[in-house]
Amino acid sequence: MTNRKRILVTGGAGFIGTHLCERLLSLGHEVLCVDNFYSGTRANVLHLLGNRNFELMRHDVTFPLYVEVDLIYNLACPASPVHYQYDPVQTTKTSVHGAINMLGLAKRRNARILQASTSEVYGDPNVHPQHEDYWGNVNPIGPRACYDEGKRCAETLFFDYRRRHEMSVRVARIFNTYGPYMRQDDGRVVSNFIVQALKGEPITVYGDGSQTRSFCYVSDLVDGLMALIAHDDDRVGPVNLGNPAEITVGELAERVLAMTGSRSKIEFRPIPVDDPHRRQPDISRAKKALNWAPTVGLEQGLAKTIEYFRGALSL
Ligand code: NAD
Ligand code: UDP
Repeated sequence: MTNRKRILVTGGAGFIGTHLCERLLSLGHEVLCVDNFYSGTRANVLHLLGNRNFELMRHDVTFPLYVEVDLIYNLACPASPVHYQYDPVQTTKTSVHGAINMLGLAKRRNARILQASTSEVYGDPNVHPQHEDYWGNVNPIGPRACYDEGKRCAETLFFDYRRRHEMSVRVARIFNTYGPYMRQDDGRVVSNFIVQALKGEPITVYGDGSQTRSFCYVSDLVDGLMALIAHDDDRVGPVNLGNPAEITVGELAERVLAMTGSRSKIEFRPIPVDDPHRRQPDISRAKKALNWAPTVGLEQGLAKTIEYFRGALSL
């Protein structure tokens, strides 16, 4: 392979990271997976350990890292509200100190670096669907702030490093993504509903279920991340990556029940503080700049994810 690269994936043992490592290896790249196993697991990447192009390193990105790499995907950060709120100070440190350390590494190596940012930078949005030029509506002192503001500050650092040091940075604003390798106890809605349905436990809908999200299957997201890091225009700016198909949480619960054939009952629970009411990506920039759009519909993606959890739960 002529354009074989040595690629660092921080957070590589997490849900998205595992898929990304798999894909990069399948293309013949060398992958250095760095993870402190805060929300990811060694088990996710166990099947990759025998690959001579794969290396796993336990490391916390809040500390500097000195390695020789050509390309960096900075994914390290817990993404589920349950996990990022468990140790909020560590969450902010992971985003902010992690960004400083990984940008420092990218600068020393003159390597292109991609930041896994999030739709949470838009907070509870007043603009719908969310376009990259919208500055967001984030509560800076609420329980989600450690994640939202940490990610916003990381974006600031990425663009300051670009302006100050003329570095090649890419920022992906990822919208809700789901698929295999999510933890059973991840706490996010798709995995929760599927695991609850398969176990015959109550489906926990927070609030009245009228809030919306737009769910992207993980293989589409990985395509988007790779297209973004390969994109050669340094002025591209942040790029939304997600599937614009919007659905209410209540409809998602019904869909999962129907697809699993479960007899679980829906139980309504209090809505978490600052839970965004609506969320849908405007992906016109990704379409135009990257020629990217999602291809896996919710039905198909849910089927694959249900199959994965059936196996994981040995049902
Ligand atoms: P995840 O929690 O499954 O994976 C995150 C990984 O980062 C885990 O393996 C965790 O152990 C690791 N990590 C956490 N703190 C670390 C630290 N200090 N040092 C080293 N490793 C650390 O989450 P995910 O869904 O795979 O998300 C990956 C990235 O994508 C995150 O940055 C997340 O914010 C972003 N993102 C994800 C979604 C989504 O819907 N999945 C949406 C928006 C943004
Ligand atoms: N949610 C729910 N039941 C659950 C988990 C989540 O109703 O068991 C709701 C949550 O309140 C939110 C949406 O599903 O409105 C998506 O939550 P998730 O934690 O997956 O991601 P978020 O987009 O909030 O970061």
